[in-house]
Amino acid sequence: MKAHGEYIDSIIIIAIVVFNACMGLIQETKAEKALDALAKLASPIAKVKRDGKIKEIPCEDVVPGDIVLLENGNYVPADCRIIESARLGIDESALTGENIASNKDANAILNNNVLPADMLNMAFATTTITSGHGEAVVCDIGMRTKVGQIANLIMSNESPETPLQRKLGEVGKKLGLIAIAICGLIFLIGILKHIPWMEMFMTSIGLAVAAIPEGLPAVVTILLSIGVTKMAKKNSIIRKLPAVETLGSSQVICSDKTGTLTQNKMKVVQITDGTGTIDKPLTATNKLILELGSLCSDSYLQEENGKLITIGEPTENAIVNASIENNIYKSNLEKEFKRVGEIPFDSNRKLMTTIHKVPTGYKIITKGAPDVLLGKCTMDYNKGIIRELSESRKAQIQKINTQMAERALRVLGVAYIDIKIMPQKLAPEIVEKNLIFVGLIGMIDPPREGVKEAVQTCTRAGIKTVMITGDHLYTAKAIAKEIGILKSTDKAITGAELDKLPQDKFEKEIMDYSVFARVSPEHKVRIVKAYRANGKITAMTGDGVNDAPALKIADIGVAMGKGGTDVAKNAADMILADDNFVTIAGAVKTGRHIFDNIKKAIHFLLATNVGEIVVVFLGLLFGLESPLLAIQLLWVNLVTDSLPAIALGMEPAEEDIMNRKPESIKKGLFAGGMWSKIFVEGTMIGLLTLIAFTIGNKFYSVEVGRSMAFVALSMLELVHSFNIKSEESIFKVGITKNPYLIGSFILGAVLQIGVVSIPYIAQIFKCTPLNIEQWLITLGISICPIFIMEIQKKLNEIKFGKRVYSYQK
Ligand code: ATP
Repeated sequence: MKAHGEYIDSIIIIAIVVFNACMGLIQETKAEKALDALAKLASPIAKVKRDGKIKEIPCEDVVPGDIVLLENGNYVPADCRIIESARLGIDESALTGENIASNKDANAILNNNVLPADMLNMAFATTTITSGHGEAVVCDIGMRTKVGQIANLIMSNESPETPLQRKLGEVGKKLGLIAIAICGLIFLIGILKHIPWMEMFMTSIGLAVAAIPEGLPAVVTILLSIGVTKMAKKNSIIRKLPAVETLGSSQVICSDKTGTLTQNKMKVVQITDGTGTIDKPLTATNKLILELGSLCSDSYLQEENGKLITIGEPTENAIVNASIENNIYKSNLEKEFKRVGEIPFDSNRKLMTTIHKVPTGYKIITKGAPDVLLGKCTMDYNKGIIRELSESRKAQIQKINTQMAERALRVLGVAYIDIKIMPQKLAPEIVEKNLIFVGLIGMIDPPREGVKEAVQTCTRAGIKTVMITGDHLYTAKAIAKEIGILKSTDKAITGAELDKLPQDKFEKEIMDYSVFARVSPEHKVRIVKAYRANGKITAMTGDGVNDAPALKIADIGVAMGKGGTDVAKNAADMILADDNFVTIAGAVKTGRHIFDNIKKAIHFLLATNVGEIVVVFLGLLFGLESPLLAIQLLWVNLVTDSLPAIALGMEPAEEDIMNRKPESIKKGLFAGGMWSKIFVEGTMIGLLTLIAFTIGNKFYSVEVGRSMAFVALSMLELVHSFNIKSEESIFKVGITKNPYLIGSFILGAVLQIGVVSIPYIAQIFKCTPLNIEQWLITLGISICPIFIMEIQKKLNEIKFGKRVYSYQK
């Protein structure tokens, strides 16, 4: 009969262990699937022309025959024949190993049997466009492309272990070994005390399974996946999991201005020939400024839902829209001035040039940053009379430019020159010279809604927000002031000034600056390096190809989801689906929140494991009969381990989460006395369980004692989960805000009561049903942690002042 009982015992123990492992595995697999689904969200998009309209579709959906737009910084989605090209350079190193970009030409005539590297009129899947733009017809997709399956290139879906996961893996292993050693010790002590070896063996194994924190990495993966899914819903897509941990600790956020801090909805509000007048109705010069500006832009009109809308880059859309308001139509102008060449805009040059056929030869039109453009002009179109551009006239134009910038306007200058012979080579140094300056266009781009508040929140959270922009210093300063980035003690600097500053001096001074204007993407690398040299955890935003190095070296590289190139996205840790700064601030908050909750879950898991070890170890040491049997330990572990831990991981963010200073990443998870908390609280749980056992054993019987200890241990753990919610008094934060924790408590309590009260099940778990008195004593003991922890929290408050954050000091 006894042998039969032990047989059932073993089966049930194995069943519980297997069930526990399966639950962990299922949850972890689900979490990993969610992470994979998120990775797909960040897949590249291709722009194709279908039914005469431009559509954005996932790269995988491109089909042969599609006309794809090839734009700087994006991937070529399929193998395709180039039909139009303007300074189109493609990096084919992925395919050919050749590091120099290949200059593509739609009109190249090829011999038969040329190698892919020499096919100048072809673009291949997986390569990246590094300059210019073009159009191409898709020939081959998927497996039929030169590089094979496109799905393999789309994104590295591998999710490396985060530092936290790695650390936990190590801690888990160490704790596991300690637990095994303790279990061995317990077994030995038991044998020495002449407790039947089979009973001791079972208890030791049960304790080992219960106490080894095997669920630790799984709980972290689950909580990370829940967290990043939540973040994705709020427009921040995490590409690399470690970013979640780093995000919460960020100390500096370097943000692009246009489109991230501002709306990128440009509207022209001033057109001037540089004499300072705002002319209405349009003067002849202002009309010419708009005509030239329209011709030298890539924006075009497209019908959408019965309405004509301007498609293109917002700066250029603004010019084309302002022209239409004044009855100047780009399409009509283009018939007369056919575009025959162009040098696309790039944010290093800050200029764009187009060349148009005119009866007398060619017209070169250049538009761009006035300070740069003026350097390329030698003549001035002053009220229709062309004369030399004197230094005093240049100074006058600069002054007007500055005045416009001080009003937070983005200013573009427009110039042209008529030539007889088409330039041999479309190189900026050959084409963009001896121009005739015509005038300036000023446009507003209001701050995004909520940006000012988000900057304030960051400041409260100990995070410095820095503006990085290609725009004029004064435009940048005006907007930075408006949104609270540039405070009275802060300084602003331009890229040119930065070039003169040695890196070591810059590193010393960098904390004084909050605006970097007229910078090129290359400067971003220096800026990130300087912050990091000051030990600051730095987030950097970016969208262009040239931003990729800075995104890579930043602690958190943030790429724009809408306006960002594939290259930038690939280099980033996080993608902002809405390009909005407010989203970054929100992501930092969520990062802190996820990290906080993971700590709470780990704190709970380890404290309860220590509690279980303490019960068995001290019980044996004090010469008590085994206060808990193996099967009971395993049950407690099953009911009270993962569920409340995951429920704690769903805690709402603490109110002051963005009023704390960033936590040092180096201090890590177990900073702020976490270990001592775990041991003290574990010991508390263990001792209270032993008290329940001793009372039962002394006043009733050893079976009642075990049943009381069994109920007490699981109830103590369930009750203690509420203490871990916050470092503040539970009576202040309340218990109702996290329905998951309440749910896990009710479920755990009902199951526990069921196990001891339903006769057949009680028999399996070797319990004696408790009477009212015994229940009251057990439950009375079970709520003690609330009061003990309240006293401890109060003492902490007295010792450390107002509020102590458990995880940071
Ligand atoms: P931010 O870095 O804040 O996002 P940005 O990236 O928009 O700013 P750039 O695009 O590098 O800054 O623009 C820098 C300057 O180049 C602008 O101030 C403007 O004078 C000029 N510029 C911008 N767009 C164009 C364009 N399409 N054609 C010609 N010049 C332009």
